Amino acid sequence: MKKTKVAVLGATGMVGQRFLALLENNPYFEVSALCASERSAGKEYREAVSGRWAVEGEIPEKFAEMPVEKCEPGIDAEIVFGALDSSIAEPIEQAFAKEGYAVSSNTRCHRMCEDIPLVIPEVNAGHLEIIEEQKKNRKWGGFIVTNPNCSTIAMVLGLHPLQKAFGLEKISVTTMQALSGAGYPGVSSLDILDNVIPHIGGEEGKMESEPLKIWGELKGGKFENADMKISAHCNRVNVKDGHLETISLSLKKKASLDEVKKALKEFRAEPQELNLPSAPKQPVILMEEENRPQPRLDRMLEKGMASVVGRIREDKIFDYKMLILGHNTIRGAAGCAILNAELLKAKKYI
Ligand code: NAP
Repeated sequence: MKKTKVAVLGATGMVGQRFLALLENNPYFEVSALCASERSAGKEYREAVSGRWAVEGEIPEKFAEMPVEKCEPGIDAEIVFGALDSSIAEPIEQAFAKEGYAVSSNTRCHRMCEDIPLVIPEVNAGHLEIIEEQKKNRKWGGFIVTNPNCSTIAMVLGLHPLQKAFGLEKISVTTMQALSGAGYPGVSSLDILDNVIPHIGGEEGKMESEPLKIWGELKGGKFENADMKISAHCNRVNVKDGHLETISLSLKKKASLDEVKKALKEFRAEPQELNLPSAPKQPVILMEEENRPQPRLDRMLEKGMASVVGRIREDKIFDYKMLILGHNTIRGAAGCAILNAELLKAKKYI
């Protein structure tokens, strides 16, 4: 198969670097352009990320000498992956979509737009159907597809088997979110060492609203929110990668603990059926050990693309409580955007 040319916007940042590490050997895509701010444009990639390469291993050799370009349409690519600082991403992503590029974005700017899909491929691949409407409404040659916030992805993917089998009535979630989720250089060491920061700007609102759109229905060209209640507390903790979440939930249809575990273990979806290159074989992993999952030990299961669920037990206020772990820059960001693009290719949107 001829590879599709892709560019990474924000290639020098924490998520941009992760994109490159994941795209190095992707069989569908070939990275043809690296873009970032004016501070980096004109430099070789190796120089632009000097002293701040934060992904395991070295900078992939094939990208090290590529020039960093400005984030402007005209670059040689069909798909652009969005990993820009969200304060400046909106007009840039729109300019690319207008000029005919397929934009697979990580940023928050377009997630809640009425005609833009917010997609986790295992959960709501059908929402891609809004793309035709989007192109027509906005008179764009291309389009934008987004993926959710990192902590939302871990929770929604991990709970989707239960939503599908029994329906979710209410969820209470408390997150312990990794430092890489704050970008580079992120949180100051003097703020986070020996500490937990009990606030992440905007995060609780995203966790409470994004799942309603993702689990909602696309009817007559409009998204209808799912009918459930979510309450989130979000905390920053002293862990490099991997968001851990404690979750209590009630189901719409009552189910035994065995039925809940079976639904989680057996869950597979379209990316697995289509055998997409970045799809984990097992998107939801159930751990039975009483002290797992843990970020350092379990975040790289299924190459960082799974939601890892553990410690499921009955709850005295809700029906069940459990832990969910997700790698924030892989499944929670770059990996999800790449899987979205693979799905778009498999479904002939690209
Ligand atoms: P980051 O490390 O701060 O990187 C930001 C990137 O944006 C850099 O490449 C930077 O380029 C570029 N940039 C900044 N200002 C720019 C401008 N005016 N014009 C063009 N490029 C500009 O942030 P990050 O953590 O990678 O996050 C990137 C996006 O993904 C954000 O929207 C974030 O909310 C989202 N996200 C992050 C995570 C995570 O776990 N980190 C998870 C999900 C979603 P220079 O290097 O040249 O300054």
